Amino acid sequence: MRKIKKILVANRGEIALRIMRSAREAGLQTVAVFSEADRQSLHVRYADEAVCIGPPPSSESYLRIDKILDAARQTGADAIHPGYGFLSENETFAQRVEDAGLIFIGPSAKAIELMGSKLAAKAAVAAFHVPLVPGTTEPITDVARAKEIAATIGYPVLIKASAGGGGKGMRVVENEASFAEQMERAISEATSAFGDGSVFIEKYVTSPRHIEFQIFGDKHGNVVHLFERECSIQRRHQKVVEEAPSSVLTPEKRKLMGEAAINAAKACGYYGAGTIEFILDDKLNFYFLEMNTRLQVEHPVTEAITGLDLVQLQIRIAEGEKIPFKQEDLQMHGHAIEIRVYAEDPANNFLPDIGKLKTYKRPQGHGIRVDDGFEQGMDIPFYYDPMIAKLICHAETREAAIEKMIRAIQDYEITGLETTLGFCGFVMKHDAFRSGNFDTRFVEKYFTPAALQPDHTHTEEAIVAILAGTLLKSNGRGAADGALAAVGTTVSRWRKNRS
Ligand code: ADP
Ligand code: ADP
Ligand code: MG
Repeated sequence: MRKIKKILVANRGEIALRIMRSAREAGLQTVAVFSEADRQSLHVRYADEAVCIGPPPSSESYLRIDKILDAARQTGADAIHPGYGFLSENETFAQRVEDAGLIFIGPSAKAIELMGSKLAAKAAVAAFHVPLVPGTTEPITDVARAKEIAATIGYPVLIKASAGGGGKGMRVVENEASFAEQMERAISEATSAFGDGSVFIEKYVTSPRHIEFQIFGDKHGNVVHLFERECSIQRRHQKVVEEAPSSVLTPEKRKLMGEAAINAAKACGYYGAGTIEFILDDKLNFYFLEMNTRLQVEHPVTEAITGLDLVQLQIRIAEGEKIPFKQEDLQMHGHAIEIRVYAEDPANNFLPDIGKLKTYKRPQGHGIRVDDGFEQGMDIPFYYDPMIAKLICHAETREAAIEKMIRAIQDYEITGLETTLGFCGFVMKHDAFRSGNFDTRFVEKYFTPAALQPDHTHTEEAIVAILAGTLLKSNGRGAADGALAAVGTTVSRWRKNRS
């Protein structure tokens, strides 16, 4: 007998759809909640039932615990999946869901609370022998004292918000001269984003790589890890390309980090899906960064290499089942890469570029997965995260996954707004990425907007492209592609290269 019959998904967009699909496969009913901005959206149409929970701003809809609980009551849902972002790491929400007699598909409120504070989390995992980045263990408010500490740690240092997330409230400080100003900025950013201005200091790890472990715990005390994901390609300390496995980990290092990740989860009596984030230095020493107590945006790369459906697993664990496999049963198959397609302009500092998807055509083929929440003609609402889609490519080897990704990016057609697609294509073709010899400063080191401009030295190609444009209008795509084949390109590539 299943304990859960009807799941309400307290989220929107691609992640709401992704969760509902797995729920449906498990034979469960689905309930969507939506704001007035999302009335026409795909997750609303997909669900068995849908309830409007308020005006567009998330503070009046997707963050309203009372309205979401009302919707669950009204529809008779017996479980709530929070997705990621919004209320997913809000311990009050998790507690109130359980208090209402519903199942929260996620960890205990206690675990969320403990891991929600980066400082408390560090203290908890240190007790379980998980290595930490050198730094302060208490929040710091006094600039003079903070400077003293930074001097003993050694520059560069990172000032971080204890309540931080999404790369906010974080400042790299290169030297003492700019310290006071950066600390003030970090405090004010943290106060406005999280309502908590506590900051602390960490050594800025040189040549840092972001490597995280997917873990799963059940309500019977078992914890396993589902290997790592490398998420070192970032802008504004936020991920944009992720892959599994990492190209730098040896089997020995993987084993050590996996064990540390399991210990970190045990430090908070964790159950459900979670991610332990580590930073790796240039000597492959690893340090705990934080734990995310939810499903991660980049979970599909783990699904690709393990063959598991992480949402199905979350549901079964929430129902009280044991993890249905042992650590030693798990194996990695091939290599998977995810790119995040954001409505933002890489040539303009990756600022959001909200608008209408004039054309929207997904790539297809073996080993390609697209998780998205939009269709051609839809608007990307400006109220929420500007992520349009995630494109995941899975192949036998890393090289083959990169080639597949390059092809899939070429086949992806999006017009009407700027996206990170071209930028991700640049990453895939870059020697540093291909050789595996890169770190989180990839964008600062190698990327300039000029890299996305068409190459004007190929005048012959430019002329053929113009001719092809004319052909496309008068004779159709087949003829135009024929002409472009002579210079090794296609209509979609030519479209993308137009400035
Ligand atoms: P991941 O490691 O899963 O990529 P992110 O830090 O990028 O995690 O956050 C996942 C999602 O949650 C993103 O949509 C991001 O905008 C949102 N998010 C993360 N932290 C916060 C926060 N503190 N407040 C609001 N949204 C957040
Ligand atoms: P958030 O909650 O915003 O995700 P994290 O602590 O996970 O914050 O850090 C986000 C990113 O910032 C990391 O993926 C990494 O690129 C960078 N970062 C964090 N801490 C350090 C550090 N001590 N040294 C170097 N880079 C760091
Ligand atoms: Mg993080």
